[in-house]
Amino acid sequence: MAYPSDIVIISHRNPDGDAIGSAWALKCYLEKKGHQAKVILPSDYPEVYDFMPGLNQTIIYDRDSVNGLEYLKNANIVFLVDFNSLDRIDKVGIELSKLPVPTIMIDHHIDPEPSADYLLWDTSASSTCELVFQFLDDWDGLRELDMTISEFLYIGLLTDTGSFSYATTNKTFIVASKLLEHGVDNYYMHDMLYNAYSEKQLKLLGYSLHDRMEVIPDLKAGIISLTKEDFKKFNIQRGDTEGIVNYILSIKGIQIAAFITEQPGIIKYSFRSKGDYSVQQLATKYFHGGGHKNASGGYDHFSLERAIKKFKKVLRLDLGIPNKETDKRAN
Ligand code: 5GP
Ligand code: MN
Repeated sequence: MAYPSDIVIISHRNPDGDAIGSAWALKCYLEKKGHQAKVILPSDYPEVYDFMPGLNQTIIYDRDSVNGLEYLKNANIVFLVDFNSLDRIDKVGIELSKLPVPTIMIDHHIDPEPSADYLLWDTSASSTCELVFQFLDDWDGLRELDMTISEFLYIGLLTDTGSFSYATTNKTFIVASKLLEHGVDNYYMHDMLYNAYSEKQLKLLGYSLHDRMEVIPDLKAGIISLTKEDFKKFNIQRGDTEGIVNYILSIKGIQIAAFITEQPGIIKYSFRSKGDYSVQQLATKYFHGGGHKNASGGYDHFSLERAIKKFKKVLRLDLGIPNKETDKRAN
């Protein structure tokens, strides 16, 4: 690796806490090592992360492809974090695949596409941030770890585990503990991330639960769907719908949750599950998507009504539970 290197770090569209945290932790670390590093995200990050210093220097490719492409073309090395197939980074992926630059992928999703030259991949890791921590530890024993880098890593740990409630191992808590040793204030991070609703967001949550939720007890499933009119009515912006899907799983007995939204030109699915049922397989098989066993997503290009019908139909099929109409005919 040339020294100092021009490094680009890329994470996925609709970045979540783990995408932002892993990319920025790596950027800050590499810069402390004397390199130049830029973070490129295909689309903007949720406002809730604005409290982290420097984040507004992220290059959002949707808005600034000229600079993004320039940095990409000049890079000696590219890190790909928290995703495993180039279609998760859209146009950035198309440009990247034309370049001879070496790539390092750090990820914890199932089934990586072998598109990177080097791969640090572990599906048992709670988050990509946990793997970035391991990468930095293996590299130089965390010599440059400071409070800001630790906070970025902690964001990924917290958000990808639902505040340490799922996908954790003993390693996750060891890493968390090391981050606390480096100055992370657990209460402050919780307060910034989870007591950050705007009045509008809380009303949208209330509306989603009261008016837009359908519970299907025999499938142990629930759906919340939002139309494009809802998006207009509540002036829904990036990040405003984050976390709504999880409320469905707080209903006793419900194990599968779908949040389906009508966005310009696309239907977006967000799936969550509890226990053994893999929404990752559901998303991959039927919804052009993927993700994790208990949190996945996908998309389609038809109406919201059809998307809801499709979800119910394929879930029923996948679970092997005949619908009532079929029952009647069978009897
Ligand atoms: P969310 O529901 O929070 O948008 O996404 C949950 C997880 O599902 C993400 O961490 C990501 O791994 C996965 N995911 C969401 N949307 C897509 C998609 O369109 N394609 C793929 N492959 N994975 C997705
Ligand atoms: Mn992740």
